[in-house]
Amino acid sequence: MNVYDGERMAEMLGERGMTAAADGNDADLVILNTCHIREKAVDKVYSDIGRMTREDGSRPMIAVAGCVAQAEGSEISRRARTVDIVVGPQAYHRLPDLIAKAGRGEAAVDTDMPAESKFGALPARTKQARPTAFLTIMEGCDKFCTYCVVPYTRGAEISRSWGAILDEAKALVDGGVKEITLLGQNVNAWTGEDDKGRAQGMDGLVRELAKIDALKRIRYTTSHPNDMSDGLIAAHGEVDKLMPFLHLPVQSGNDRILKAMNRSHSVEGYLRLIDRVRAARPDIALSGDFIVGFPGETEEEFADTLRIVDAVGYAQCYSFKYSPRPGTPAADMDGQIPADVMDDRLVRLQAAINRHQVGFNAATVGRRTTILLERAGRYPGQLIGKTPWLQSVHVTAPDQAIGDMIEVDIISAGPNSLAGEIGRRKAA
Ligand code: SAH
Ligand code: SF4
Repeated sequence: MNVYDGERMAEMLGERGMTAAADGNDADLVILNTCHIREKAVDKVYSDIGRMTREDGSRPMIAVAGCVAQAEGSEISRRARTVDIVVGPQAYHRLPDLIAKAGRGEAAVDTDMPAESKFGALPARTKQARPTAFLTIMEGCDKFCTYCVVPYTRGAEISRSWGAILDEAKALVDGGVKEITLLGQNVNAWTGEDDKGRAQGMDGLVRELAKIDALKRIRYTTSHPNDMSDGLIAAHGEVDKLMPFLHLPVQSGNDRILKAMNRSHSVEGYLRLIDRVRAARPDIALSGDFIVGFPGETEEEFADTLRIVDAVGYAQCYSFKYSPRPGTPAADMDGQIPADVMDDRLVRLQAAINRHQVGFNAATVGRRTTILLERAGRYPGQLIGKTPWLQSVHVTAPDQAIGDMIEVDIISAGPNSLAGEIGRRKAA
């Protein structure tokens, strides 16, 4: 979502005549769009601010945006005196005003969560450099998992309107986008009304987006197990443009830990859900998020997390060491886990995840599939495209083929990407 927010800020400032600096070193303004989810991300922001001052002592105007800005507010400019602007994730449509105010002594701070939505104040989407785009359809979270800052930094769940989403999708597609990834902290909690006033969930939105002819692929992330409706599961079996990939974080494979996390789903419930999704779309690739070392997690409870990785057989996963976040209930819980224990558990978890990822990729060798060519590869003449299951495929193809959907034969697989050969037929 920070990528999306960054693009929107750039588009908004572009409308006011600003352009991207060719070289970051001679920028007049630098916006650090930040993440607060783990402590490491916060530390990085402060070290980046320090690096902004040039050898001759000059520096650009510095804005800190995003969730660190929201959580720390004016504290940021006290800790880092060179910061001129602090703007939260729900207030960045006011950046032009803040820029005008900045540089007059005190930092300009805006961490309001205004009733008016920023989306209404942002300009229409401009032509995108790539054939894939993100589109935020909802923001915020009402679930309050005990480890997580998101409900405090992004605010309560808010769904954008049906019409606004469709307009933005059409503008992206008119600008050449072939694949849209719908975004939200709990994207599948999206609710709204269609243009006839009928109540709709995200499945209805997906079905409507699928009617846009030139849009070829639809994805969404991140979804929450509790918001995985029957309609959305059915859509995976019925809507061809909805890609067979589901990122469905479980966090832990142990019920006591899930309860302490306030996840409000059990291991059994999660596994049943996966069965139903697979019944609707047997080839679906699954992805997840895991936290190791939540306060009080025993070795046996951690072993349950290794078990669920094997039980599901994920195509890929994100895994994190628990990071205590100020103001969240878990930060004050007894039984905080020592760093070396967390390190060890993370290594073992990642080994299990990698085993499945390697197996999933290897199973595609010899298959013919369709990829959307997204960008140049590392070597001249090489492009990178994605399979329906979100794997990166390297192929030999000319630059002008970016944006094409082509059939490839997968000839080899590594842990993180595949190699493909272009088939003779061009896909629809
Ligand atoms: N709403 C989504 C996840 C959004 S946050 C869901 O609930 O599934 C993205 C991921 O960051 C989470 O899934 C979690 O694995 C991780 N995360 C959040 N807070 C964390 C913390 N305090 N320490 C470590 N990882 C954390
Ligand atoms: Fe954070 Fe996701 Fe839990 Fe919300 S549901 S509190 S975003 S982990």
